[in-house]
Amino acid sequence: MKLSTALIHRHNIKDPSGAVMSPIIMATTFERSEDQLTMPQGYVYSRYDNPNKHALEEKIAEMEGGAVCISFASGLAAATAVFQSLKSGDHIVMADDTYFSMRTIVHTLYAGFGLSYTLADFTDPDALRQAIRPNTRLLWMESPSNPAIKVTDLEAVVAIARQHSCLTVADNTWATPFYTRPLDLGVDIVLHSTTKYFGGHSDILGGALVFKENNEKTEFIKNVQRYGGAVPSPFDCWLLCRSLTTFTARMSIHSANAMKLARFLEKEPKIERVLYPGLPSHPQHTVAARQMKGGYGGMLSILVKGGRENALKLCGFLNLFTHATSLGGVESLIEHRKSTEGPDSATPDHLLRISVGIEDVSDLIKDFKQALKRL
Ligand SMILES: *Cc1c(COP(=O)(O)O)cnc(C)c1O
Repeated sequence: MKLSTALIHRHNIKDPSGAVMSPIIMATTFERSEDQLTMPQGYVYSRYDNPNKHALEEKIAEMEGGAVCISFASGLAAATAVFQSLKSGDHIVMADDTYFSMRTIVHTLYAGFGLSYTLADFTDPDALRQAIRPNTRLLWMESPSNPAIKVTDLEAVVAIARQHSCLTVADNTWATPFYTRPLDLGVDIVLHSTTKYFGGHSDILGGALVFKENNEKTEFIKNVQRYGGAVPSPFDCWLLCRSLTTFTARMSIHSANAMKLARFLEKEPKIERVLYPGLPSHPQHTVAARQMKGGYGGMLSILVKGGRENALKLCGFLNLFTHATSLGGVESLIEHRKSTEGPDSATPDHLLRISVGIEDVSDLIKDFKQALKRL
């Protein structure tokens, strides 16, 4: 069954009333058998599992082709569970432009527990090999990256990881399984901020981990959640399942709109550079063309001529692009990343990150035309 069909028809909860859509099971606790020893439906308590959480996890596991999925209260809660499965003294190599808060949580929350990390350019295999130490346990990658839109050759990183017995994690929030399935390329764990394209409407916070195998590591991370408690609510899981029914339809429009907007902006003389994996001018376009199937996603960054001042002005002149952080919603968003990331950020001052929505692209282009004219 194809993904669009599966997301509508599979892993739904049948309600005794005959309701066509899945119900929301808000209960925190579930009835046991008379001898107290068995749980007829397998549910005990909602911190361990809940029917809506279970349905969501089955859907996401199928999307990524994984053996198991664990859904979390946010993308960072999912990341935290992976870091908490490491031991004191372990070392992580992270892509140098990994989602900013990933680096922040490792050095603010986990440095005191003995975890350390090194940043490396994952598009350069030699640089990556040099960053690996004898105590490196994890290679943490993100493709396309945020906000430099670098595309990592996931298979090449997996090959290096195997030589050094490191686990690989791919943050697949931006590419989504509609365009790239990291587990098929040998990655061990996929991470999602389901807040973004899975939710799709900027109104649910959530995260997920998908595992290639159900092994000891997977069990350990399940326990991090069961005992740590970073579970999503049944309502959020239900909303996410509802959003996933339109996931493939939304992704196709996000991606087609982004491609058209990128092509338009690339020809504009006031724009220095457009970073979008679908453009032949993108430094890793060849890798993207091989690795991203059927499209290049909805995220792009632009470098505006005239530095920070012009970048901020251009932002201000746009009417349809809301100035806000985050991404993956139906509405287009624009953000000056350096201001969000703070003074330690390596992001250029004249970079604007755009989450291209599913509006009619001619309106988006028209808006840029009038804004560029005023610049
Ligand atoms: C937003 C985001 C996260 C963090 O997820 P939250 O749901 O905000 O906790 C992680 N990785 C990427 C690539 C993101 O875009």
